[in-house]
Amino acid sequence: MSEISAETKPSFRSEVTVDLVKHSAGDSDVLWAARVSTAGEQSLEELSKDPERSKGLINFLMRDRHGSPFEHNSMTFFISAPIFVFREFMRHRVGWSYNEESGRYRELQPVFYVPDASRKLVQEGRPGKYVFVDGTQEQQDLTERTMTESYRQAYEAYQEMLAAGVAREVARAVLPVGLYSSMYATCNARSLMHFLGLRTQHEAAKVPSFPQREIEMVGEKMEEQWARLMPLTHAAFNGNGRVAP
Ligand SMILES: Cc1cc2nc3c(=O)[nH]c(=O)nc-3n(C[C@H](O)[C@H](O)[C@H](O)COP(=O)(O)OP(=O)(O)OC[C@H]3O[C@@H](n4cnc5c(N)ncnc54)[C@H](O)[C@@H]3O)c2cc1C
Repeated sequence: MSEISAETKPSFRSEVTVDLVKHSAGDSDVLWAARVSTAGEQSLEELSKDPERSKGLINFLMRDRHGSPFEHNSMTFFISAPIFVFREFMRHRVGWSYNEESGRYRELQPVFYVPDASRKLVQEGRPGKYVFVDGTQEQQDLTERTMTESYRQAYEAYQEMLAAGVAREVARAVLPVGLYSSMYATCNARSLMHFLGLRTQHEAAKVPSFPQREIEMVGEKMEEQWARLMPLTHAAFNGNGRVAP
């Protein structure tokens, strides 16, 4: 028999969470990396010594897409989001490391995604050109009702199989992609900018993207925390059309 947890009652969430659990990242990391070829100028105090020059250098690197100086830093995020978000997230292969909770080694907890009223429900227009609009109250009610019902049913089936001794790795097949999962994701500023360029919509973007709202919610929270660590790099990213160098 599998071990069955006491907590089997499904709960429903609309938000994602992103915690910056570890970091070594600052604008000065970009500066010393860029200046390594000119001995004597390498300095961690560069920022405070000549902020205007530092700002100019970071902007130049971003504008002319000299990307490697933006790689000498590291940020580790703990992210809790539905599986369908992670499925999109893990397509980002370069400059990212991931570790996700296992559905083989632990019993999956019944926490499921249900969009809140702010999530636009209806797609209008053709692919590549479509927009999302709110949807009616009926559509919102239907979404909430059918999602919660089907999540309950799926989790019951999962529990029934576990109780009968079916392995977790087999029983999990009945669980939907709206189930929450959690992972650590480690990146650097360059790989994060590439991710943000694709997974957020922003008025400063030179190349518009049309990400799914839920991965964008994760991206927005990551960006907020990164911007505090590397304000000059973040400003240069926005100032140069949000194209990763
Ligand atoms: C709005 C949107 C819709 C999407 N829709 C779909 C979809 O319908 N179906 C689908 O399958 N995916 C879809 N994707 C995923 C998309 O195709 C990419 O897999 C994902 O955005 C990761 O981008 P990336 O490959 O640039 O990133 P990374 O994997 O992090 O790569 C970063 C960069 O490294 C270089 N690189 C990496 N690997 C290679 C390689 N093998 N060869 C050459 N250069 C390489 C490229 O320059 C790449 O841009 C979608 C993405 C977005 C943003």
